[in-house]
Order: sequence, then C-alpha cells, then structure tokens
Amino acid sequence: MSQSVPVNKPVSTVSIYGIRFSKMNMDETVRYLTDRVERRIPTQVITGNPIMVMTALDSTRYYEVMTGAELVVPDGTGVVWAASYIGDPVPERVPGFDLMHNLLREGELRGWRVFLLGTAQDIIEKAAASLTEQYPDIIIAGYRNGYFGPDDDAEVVRQIREAQVDLLFVARAADTQEPWIAQHKEALGVPVMMGVGGSLDIIAGVLKRAPVLFQKLRLEWLYRLLQQPSRYRRMFALPKFVVKVMRDKENVAKHRPTT
Ligand code: UDP
Repeated sequence: MSQSVPVNKPVSTVSIYGIRFSKMNMDETVRYLTDRVERRIPTQVITGNPIMVMTALDSTRYYEVMTGAELVVPDGTGVVWAASYIGDPVPERVPGFDLMHNLLREGELRGWRVFLLGTAQDIIEKAAASLTEQYPDIIIAGYRNGYFGPDDDAEVVRQIREAQVDLLFVARAADTQEPWIAQHKEALGVPVMMGVGGSLDIIAGVLKRAPVLFQKLRLEWLYRLLQQPSRYRRMFALPKFVVKVMRDKENVAKHRPTT
C-alpha cells in the first residue's frame, strides 16, 4: 500500500446534514485505520448510508452518535450520489464488508487480535471459524453473540476489554450497534471499533453477498431486500433521502443541528 497517504492530517470530509463523510478512498481508509490501531487511538468507524442519515435527522441521540464517530465512511450508494449532487464528491464508495476484510488482511500481516460481537451463537461460531481459516495469522481473541440487553453491557465490555484486541466488529441491529459502540467507546479499550451489520452472517454463509452484477449496478440494497423482504419498510428512507437532498441542494452541506 502507498506510503504517501498522510495519516496525521485531519481527514477531508463532505458534510451531509452535518454528518461528516470521509473523502478517503479505500486504500487511504485502511492506511488511516491501521495507523490508529498502531497508535491505539479509540476510533469508532461508521459505515454510513442514507437510512442512517434519515434516522439521525429524526433522532437527536442517533445524530450525536453519527457526528461523534471518529470516522464515517460512505458505504451507501445514496451517500456517494448525494456528495456528487451537492458538488463535493467522494472518490469512491467504501463498503463496510470490503473494509472489514481489508482490515483483517492488514491484521494478518501484523498479528492483530480481533473480537467479534453479534448475531446468533451458532452463526458467530461459524464466522469465527471461517475467519480463522481465511486469516490464519489473525488472532480471534474472543467472540460473543449479540443477543443481550443493557443489564449485560458491563459484563460484555469487561470481556472485550480483557481480550485486549486491536479490532472489534459489532454485528447487531442497525439501530443498536452504533449507539452501543458510542456508549462504551472509552471503556472498551479497543482502537478500531466498527459496526458491520449482517457481515458476520455473510461470512458464516447464512446470508449471501450480492453478486458482482448487483454491486456494479449499485443494487446491493435490492439484493439484500430480496433475501430479507421484512426489511422493506426501512427502504422507504432511500427515496425520501433522495427527494430531500434534491430539495435542499444548496443547504445540505450547511445544515447544522438545531438542538
Ligand atoms: N442481531 C443481534 N442482536 C440483536 C438483534 C440483531 O446480534 O439484538 C444481529 C442479527 O442476528 C444480525 C444482525 O444483528 O446478524 C443484523 O440484524 P438485523 O438484520 O435484524 O438488523 P438490521 O440491520 O436489519 O437493523
């Protein structure tokens, strides 16, 4: 990977309703996060999409989580479109699934320790086994299923902290995982913490990733919807986001929270 990417400079971003999306490409993002791991700087990575932006505009708490994250990458195609539309484009989409694998590849070279948190017990076990096979030099220092409530938080945080890991991937429901990381960021003692949603289900072979054709046509969301039709309700956020951005064009980047 190129050594020329400056890691100490502030990350260049584009603001979409006050949420700062990184303008680094995938290589730069991996290099930036690798540096954060090596320097053990707590960094919450959010792989942002229009549904999250719309949720944030409806919920002050979620807005604070999105704006409080150290790095928000443009995962959703709609975000990439919006950045171009307002005249401040990002160089490319940075899909969370690929970012996760690229970080694991980097960790493979550096002997990083990883904790996996989320999804059902049998699936997390399969995901851990699959990643151990794919990345033999990574140390899966711990894993735990994602079905626990606030009463268990302290115990879960203690377990992760004691595992002394470099990367934490959290695969819980979209409205839970980012707030959970934000709430426990300092206590976890992990440099890079990232919500990965259904990625562990894909790694375990329970869900399929969209075929390349769907990815190229930017229809990954549609493929996911076809596999899990129950997700249709949240998909209304996508057209609403597009209409809103078109309507607000000049003001999307200027938006500041009112609260
Ligand atoms: N999940 C979890 N704990 C929960 C709810 C969900 O670990 O309390 C996992 C679920 O098994 C799946 C992932 O989180 O692996 C994403 O779940 P879902 O698709 O329901 O969330 P969404 O992304 O739709 O919000």
